[in-house]
Amino acid sequence: MNRNRAFYIGRFQPYHLGHHAVIQKIAKEVDEIVIGIGSAQKSHTLEDPFTAGERVMMVSRSLEELDITYYVIPIMDVHRHAIWVSHVRSLTPPFNVAYSNNPLVIDLFSEAGIKVKKSPLFQRDVYSGTEIRRRMLNDKKWQDLVPKAVVKVIKEIDGVQRLKKLSKIDSQG
Ligand code: NAP
Repeated sequence: MNRNRAFYIGRFQPYHLGHHAVIQKIAKEVDEIVIGIGSAQKSHTLEDPFTAGERVMMVSRSLEELDITYYVIPIMDVHRHAIWVSHVRSLTPPFNVAYSNNPLVIDLFSEAGIKVKKSPLFQRDVYSGTEIRRRMLNDKKWQDLVPKAVVKVIKEIDGVQRLKKLSKIDSQG
């Protein structure tokens, strides 16, 4: 019997408890989840500080606690939206449903004939990548907004220092 496999994509800069709650909910509805690390080519900017490999570590280690089969696949952007879905499908295990809240992503998958389900983020006012990066830069508490595994990864890669250095470069440039 074919497995029911879902696709979910985000930039995960960084992966936080809002994303984690969405994935926990999806995990109850399908057999396997394919997680796309979006904008995989980006890193070392204030908006996208972490590399694809670092984001793979954040997501994979956080998902170890869930009882589900998952695949974490970095996906670079392409300059033509019209071919993006084919690009995604060429890199991922086959999936029969995509979860997203991003209007462009929803339109592109729907136009390609793929079933899309909305995935509203859990407590959006609290869990936001922008807010977490802001707190890191301002020495405010951010650790309780991400899974414990992500705290460890960011410590391992000295992520807060990287963000602070990027902020200095940005204000000088
Ligand atoms: P995103 O660019 O990562 O996120 C956009 C905003 O939506 C962020 O503020 C994000 O919050 C928020 N968000 C993420 N998931 C959400 C949810 N379930 N509910 C409410 N808000 C949510 O966009 P994305 O949809 O998460 O990821 C799409 C990825 O696909 C991007 O990397 C994009 O570049 C890529 N893409 C590429 C092409 C192309 O190459 N032509 C076309 C379409 C999409 P946080 O910051 O808290 O995550």
